[in-house]
Parts: sequence; structure tokens; C-alpha cells
Amino acid sequence: MDEALARAWIAAIAEVVRAEAQRLTDLDAAIGDGDHGVNLRRGFDAAVAALDSFEAGGAGDVLGKTGTTLLSKVGGASGPLYGTVFRALGKTLRQGGSFAEGLQAALDGVQQLGKAVAGDKTLVDALAPAVAAYASAAGEGEAAAARAAADAAAEGVRATVPMQARKGRASYLGERSVGHPDPGATSTALILGALAEVTARDSGR
Ligand code: ADP
Ligand code: MG
Repeated sequence: MDEALARAWIAAIAEVVRAEAQRLTDLDAAIGDGDHGVNLRRGFDAAVAALDSFEAGGAGDVLGKTGTTLLSKVGGASGPLYGTVFRALGKTLRQGGSFAEGLQAALDGVQQLGKAVAGDKTLVDALAPAVAAYASAAGEGEAAAARAAADAAAEGVRATVPMQARKGRASYLGERSVGHPDPGATSTALILGALAEVTARDSGR
């Protein structure tokens, strides 16, 4: 991933989060406190604004700056978690690691911070299968790997519907959290869908 692609990715995320903010908020209203869409829209709009005036030395800087901005602008559980995702991606790329390694570092960071495992009905249920799918398809190129990751994340969201939440606010609902998709898993699928979109565009250039 080069700097232009990283910038295009963050811009595409901001766009889809803006378009889907109401849906994310509705999902969070069902099993949380109804602020997930608002939280993420504020965060990614701030990230785009921060990147506007930021002189990056590569994709790693762009993603790291995004992570730092999310940490300071997004409240709740998801701010520190998504902040961790983008900071880990940024750090890995800056150190010369691959995007697949960056995704793995992001997942590790999220799990270290939030202690959620697969099946807890969190964004880990979208991110973990996406990281694995990206790694499996990495040999087919960035666009194919991103598409595989986005598809796996979307499937991961569907898998959260019958789960009972064991982490975050939704866990306070106990059995009443069953039957709804997890908002954070849904936003993770949007973020990876945006990645698939911009890498497909990029590879067709
Ligand atoms: P809050 O729950 O503080 O209002 P958000 O509404 O922005 O924060 O985000 C809620 C989402 O955060 C959940 O749908 C879930 O995916 C994710 N989440 C919450 N706690 C954890 C955790 N410990 N590990 C991973 N993801 C979590
Ligand atoms: Mg919330």
C-alpha cells in the first residue's frame, strides 16, 4: 500500500461511515447506547481533516495519524479499539512489514486491549476472519486479498446475529443481545469493504 492508496482508503471509510451512520447508530440503539455511527463519523471526519494538512512519509504515517486521531476523537469502546487498529497498521508498515502483518498486529492489539475472543459478539468476530482471509489470499495480490477480507468480515457480521454478547455494553443485555448484528463488527465490515473498493480501483489504474 502506498501513501495515495492509504489516503484514498481513509477518505472512502469516512464516506461510507457518513452514509451508514444512521444504520450503525440504529444497530447500537438495539443492543447498546446508540452512539456508534455518530462516534465513527466524528472520528473519520476528523481523520480526513487531520490528513489534509499532514505531510506523511508513506502509508504507515497516514494510517498511524488516523489511529491517533481516532483515539482522541472517538469516545466509547470503539475509539481506543479502532485507534489501536490503525496505529498497529501504521507501525507495521513504517517498520517495513506487509499489510497482512499489519492486520495481524491490529487484531492482536484489539484483543490485548479489549480481551474479546471469537464468539463474544464484538468487532473481533469480523476482524479475525478478515485477517485470516487476507493472509490466505495475499499471494493473489492486494485487491484480491482485500476483497477476500471484506467478504469474510461481512460473513463475520452475519455470524454475530445469533451470538450473545460477552463484552462491551451489549453484554449488559444478556440473552436480549441475541438476534441482532453487532454494530462494531458491522463497521469493521464497512472499513474492509472500503479497502476492497479502493484497492480494486488502484489495481485497475
Ligand atoms: P460504546 O459501546 O462505548 O458505546 P461504540 O458504540 O462506539 O462504543 O462501539 C460499540 C462496539 O464496540 C460494539 O458493537 C463492539 O463491536 C465493540 N466492542 C465493545 N467492547 C469491545 C471489546 N472489549 N473488544 C472488542 N470490541 C468491543
Ligand atoms: Mg455505543
